[in-house]
Amino acid sequence: VAYLALAVAALLAAGCSRPAESPRAGGAPAGPAGGKLQVWFINVGQGDSEFIRTPGGKTILVDGGRQVAGPVVLATLRRLGVQRLDWVVDSHPHEDHIGGLIDVLAALPAGQILDAGYRYSSPALVRYLRLIKERGYPFKKVEAGSTLDAEAGVHLEFLTPPSPYLQGTDSDPNNNSVVFRLTFGNVRLLFTGDMEEAERQWLYGQPTARWLPAEVLKAAHHGSHNGTDNEFLRRVRPRYAIISSGHEYGHPHTEALQALQQAGVAIYRTDKLGTIQVTTDGSRIEIAADHGTPAAPGAAGAAPAGAAPATAGGEVIGNRSTRVYHRPDCPALPRPENQVHFSSEAEAKRLGYRPHRACIGHE
Ligand SMILES: [Zn+2]
Ligand SMILES: [Zn+2]
Repeated sequence: VAYLALAVAALLAAGCSRPAESPRAGGAPAGPAGGKLQVWFINVGQGDSEFIRTPGGKTILVDGGRQVAGPVVLATLRRLGVQRLDWVVDSHPHEDHIGGLIDVLAALPAGQILDAGYRYSSPALVRYLRLIKERGYPFKKVEAGSTLDAEAGVHLEFLTPPSPYLQGTDSDPNNNSVVFRLTFGNVRLLFTGDMEEAERQWLYGQPTARWLPAEVLKAAHHGSHNGTDNEFLRRVRPRYAIISSGHEYGHPHTEALQALQQAGVAIYRTDKLGTIQVTTDGSRIEIAADHGTPAAPGAAGAAPAGAAPATAGGEVIGNRSTRVYHRPDCPALPRPENQVHFSSEAEAKRLGYRPHRACIGHE
């Protein structure tokens, strides 16, 4: 697959110390972008929420973060001018995925709810199902082999275990996550919910395993060690990974970050960058922080990068060719192919990298 990748590092921030107010500075156009597919990985703190807008203006929301994140997701959708969701995908019934959908679905009409039909006992799931029933939104069960044409040229392919589902795994809700690949032109994005080892192993044995390769990967389970491993990355072969986490449970885990680094995957994290926008015309891929989005709900440790020194115990990004390292929000970040991620400044220095004076601000 031939495609050009362009990471718009210059859009990541207006400066190393981000201005207190950057209304839409470097942010996304609010209206539909002609000919382009846009995906927002909304910063919901701990949890997942992704919003997809097709070139023709069709709308798909995947998960809504925790219930406390519902207003953030809704405000983001309203800012983007969304008045209706054509499809809502709930990856699995954990509260950090369906909780926020309750507010969203109470406020915006939805065409169809796509899920795997996996149920378990949880108050969030009861509230979620009750609201959907009240509103009369139709459910469509998806499983491995299901496909959906959102519009001509925009295609979804599902890889999810069917009923009777995977049982007796470390977390059955996580391991029955809806996994799907979104394709537009030559660009493919893989959405993984909180899939862990058991679901991956099941998936590899299915004919639908051919749908795994993707240029952009939503790292499974908030960057947990059980969501990403070398074999999975060999099968998917992503160039970019987006991690949605709020630092809880130690996410993202070092093992997952290292596996991604070793596979040469450029990592984008909502806990560092806030909401992340991916835009593609079907061949080029642009990834940028979207500063127009409200902050995630009071998740400790999920302060926007720039509110505190990003390097205080945090990750820095090195340039393989110049051997200089940067804060993750530096406007002069190296091209993704040249990026190497370190868990701390100390690690970067140990490997012979020196600080970028403009953004690290000391030495
Ligand atoms: Zn989760
Ligand atoms: Zn989960």
